[in-house]
Amino acid sequence: MVNYDENLDLPVVNNGHTVELTLPHTMHMTDSDGTVYAAEQMHCHWGGNSEISGSEHTIDGIRSMMEIHIVHYNKKYGSYEEAKDKEDGLAVVAILVKVKEYDENTYYSTFISELKNIKYPGQTTTLKNINIRNLMPEDIGQYYTYPGSLTTPPCTENVKWFIFRDYVFISKVQAVTIENSVVDYNNKTIQNGYRHTQPLYNRTVEANFQYSSGECCRYPAHTKNQQESIPHGWKVKKIKKVHHH
Ligand SMILES: [Zn+2]
Repeated sequence: MVNYDENLDLPVVNNGHTVELTLPHTMHMTDSDGTVYAAEQMHCHWGGNSEISGSEHTIDGIRSMMEIHIVHYNKKYGSYEEAKDKEDGLAVVAILVKVKEYDENTYYSTFISELKNIKYPGQTTTLKNINIRNLMPEDIGQYYTYPGSLTTPPCTENVKWFIFRDYVFISKVQAVTIENSVVDYNNKTIQNGYRHTQPLYNRTVEANFQYSSGECCRYPAHTKNQQESIPHGWKVKKIKKVHHH
């Protein structure tokens, strides 16, 4: 992943559904097959309150508090608009965010404190000195990947997903702020912005790390009985090294 690790001033908008950052196309990643994906935008999906979490991907049925999507397009098409309905047009990198009661994640502080300035749809502001790499988990070398669809309409089946195995943690206060800061066109607080999980059918989820079924997470879960492992519904068949750099 190239050029994510820079301090930038980036515009962010409340588009009525979520908050969305515009990313420079110089940010890009190269898949193991040589395909280059350029970054387009980043947006978030969160739930209703910290007890009802908002991530779209579940690990063993456990939803995370928030899921962040970094949307990319296949560079050979020149633009997101050209690429978005092509079979090999898009790639999304997903970051799963969990709550750790009192630990403020200072990398997220600027983003979260600016939300009050984009409370209403159509409002934009600039995130100063924001570093996208720092919004990602510490370990970006391990991830799940599978061919899927966009989680918002038109939900076309042309997205290559990359989901980091490692999590990002924010504090409860930060989570509650995100969940209550922005409203939609009906002046209703934007919450539960996720699509219900879809059946995988016969798709294969690949992991580029060694896993064992039922392996427990290396991180403390924030409620009881949250043992995180590869979901039963996922057929993780191939362990394949994918170079993400
Ligand atoms: Zn999304």
